[in-house]
Formats: sequence, C-alpha cells, structure tokens
Amino acid sequence: MNRLRFNFSECVHVYYKDSSCNLCVKVCPVEGAVIQKDYRVSVNSKKCVSCGACVGACPSEAFSLSGFDVDALFKTLKEEPLLSCKKNLPCLSTLSVEDIVTAVINGGSDVVFDTGQCKDCFIGTLLEEINKKVDEANYILEKLGVENRAIIEDLKAAPEEKTENRRRSFLKNFGKAAAGLTFWALMPGFLL
Ligand code: SF4
Ligand code: SF4
Repeated sequence: MNRLRFNFSECVHVYYKDSSCNLCVKVCPVEGAVIQKDYRVSVNSKKCVSCGACVGACPSEAFSLSGFDVDALFKTLKEEPLLSCKKNLPCLSTLSVEDIVTAVINGGSDVVFDTGQCKDCFIGTLLEEINKKVDEANYILEKLGVENRAIIEDLKAAPEEKTENRRRSFLKNFGKAAAGLTFWALMPGFLL
C-alpha cells in the first residue's frame, strides 16, 4: 500500500507558476515516481516506494506519509536518540533540515543518524542528501547556540527479531524493487 500523500494545492507552482522549484523531482530516487509537466507536479503511486525523500525536501509541505507521525517520533528520542530506517522512520531523508534541528533540540542530546544501511539500499543514492541536510542542521544549531548535534554514524542498527521475520516474509513477495518499502513492513502493528 502506498503511504505517500500529495496535496498539489500546497505546491509553490499553484501560487507562482514560473517558480523554479523542482526539489521533489530532483530528490526522488525512483525514475518517474514524481514528475513535473509544464508547472504541474504529480505522483505515480505505482512507482513510488513511500521512502519520504520528497516529504523532507519540499519547502511547502505538499507531501506527507500516512501512518508516519514525526512529532510522535521526536518524543521517543529522549529515551533513545537514534534514527534508523530499520527502527523508526522510512528513510533518514524523510526529515527536513528543520525537522533535524527540532529532533536535536527536543531530544536534549546528540541524535545519531544511522547511515549503516545506505550502501546496501537500492535507494542509497539519498546518502548525499542526508549528509547535506545534517550539515545544514548542525550549522543552524551552532548559530542558535545549541551544544548538541546530529551525528552521522555507520551503526547498522538491527531491527528486533520479530520485525525482521516480518520484513523477510514481506520481501519474499515483492523482490528487490520493494526494498524502499521495508520500513512499512517493520512498523509495529502495521497491516500490510
Ligand atoms: S516517497 Fe520517495 S519514491 Fe515516492 S515520490 Fe517521494 S521521493 Fe519518490
Ligand atoms: S518540492 Fe514541493 S513546492 Fe517544489 S515543485 Fe515539488 S511539490 Fe512543488
């Protein structure tokens, strides 16, 4: 099931047709999943893997992911300041620069971005995007006088055994093309 929700009425092109914004098209790791024809942006939900990279890139919040609550996620960071696509979000690129700043401030400590899975991920092309956003967020945190930082680490945190079994049986049905969807197979209590 596709989790991406797109509200074109929020896109900057609705207000300013000639805007040069095409960040969603540029960041999307799947060819043809998000397209821009003339000024109009649209999503091909059959191709989209619900990674959320467009959610984290769009400056006008035109995209969201059904079933993913970033505020609820941030509340858990005080207990475990770790963000991982095998534990608590579809892809690290789902977060915007502002989200990363908020995560660190709310968490009250350094927050680790586990990029250990990126090199084995078929949408691992997003690693550069993740590094860039973390750098920008840390710059803002420094300017705000916040001591804590977002830290990139190759931890490769493992999912719990129960969820890993669900992930394997899920992937058996779909093959490699569905790798970007694995987070949704891991969501506690999620029906696929
Ligand atoms: S969720 Fe991922 S695959 Fe789908 S349109 Fe956005 S960036 Fe592309
Ligand atoms: S990133 Fe957002 S504002 Fe920019 S073109 Fe895409 S939907 Fe529109």
